[in-house]
Amino acid sequence: MRGYSIVVFLVVLCTFVFSSYIPPVDNSYVTATFLEFRSTGNTPHYHSGTDFSTFLKEGIPVKAANNGYLARLEIDEGGIYGNTVVLQHDDGYKSIYAHLSKFAEKTDKIVNMLISEFGKQRIVVEFQSDDIVFSQGEVIGYSGKTGEASQAHAHFEIRDREEKNAYDPLDFIDKSLLRPVQMGVMIKNIVIDGKEYAYQPGGVYTFSGDFPKISVEAYTELAKNLLGVKEVKVYFSDNLVYHIILDRLPMDYWQKPYDLYDEKTVMTSLIYRGYYKLYSSSDLPFVKANKLSDYNYSSQYSVSIEIRDTFGNVGTFPFKLVRG
Ligand SMILES: [Zn+2]
Repeated sequence: MRGYSIVVFLVVLCTFVFSSYIPPVDNSYVTATFLEFRSTGNTPHYHSGTDFSTFLKEGIPVKAANNGYLARLEIDEGGIYGNTVVLQHDDGYKSIYAHLSKFAEKTDKIVNMLISEFGKQRIVVEFQSDDIVFSQGEVIGYSGKTGEASQAHAHFEIRDREEKNAYDPLDFIDKSLLRPVQMGVMIKNIVIDGKEYAYQPGGVYTFSGDFPKISVEAYTELAKNLLGVKEVKVYFSDNLVYHIILDRLPMDYWQKPYDLYDEKTVMTSLIYRGYYKLYSSSDLPFVKANKLSDYNYSSQYSVSIEIRDTFGNVGTFPFKLVRG
């Protein structure tokens, strides 16, 4: 009995640790998810955080997701991140708040001093643990569109202490504090060996080659916005043959979005079309299972693709493949 109660205690503790962060914007909803494709800036990259709506407004308070100390300020109207605040938390993770129009009153003095000293250029300052402390919910700055943001919103990231990895912020945040909105997962189109088709449940498509190379245009549909998904599983009959989970980005991979995304992927200020490649020959960190080469030389497959988003919505999308 003793062992049993210790296990239960640990489970409760872990759940607490990973949902103890609050959303950085009150009564907000998510407008972009972790690891979506981005072609803004100088080079295509992954979106290494989550975007929270500030209802297209600048000047909305952006709040500390957890207790922590100010680790870094980046004063920068341009670049990708714009004006940015970085907090270090006791659990070892950092939280990052980008595209701010203004910093908190608490840091105004330092910011003004730095700007008068160095002028309008990118200024990055690191702080010690006892310099400036923020408690959970305290304002760290105000929403804006500095950096690559085309509309005002709050870009929020979680990284480890050394900033070697970024993590899905929605694995940390208490999602019950978000504005309730309609959502679900969907597949729009599928690509087989480079040829694109509108996805039809139970449809029959042809393939060639040793095994079918499938890409899916999949989304989390949230309040009519199309966002990225979190997990894709591919089954041939009932066997799991390919599995990706997008919960962690080693920062070394930041500029390698085409390892995950098919070349048909497009991102402009008006359009987002994300095609996930469901085959890989490289050692992608997201791939949890890759047994496609065990399924060579079959003439047909009953395929089922299971999509899960970061909110826990799941959908299953069946179709058939026959060798053409
Ligand atoms: Zn963002």
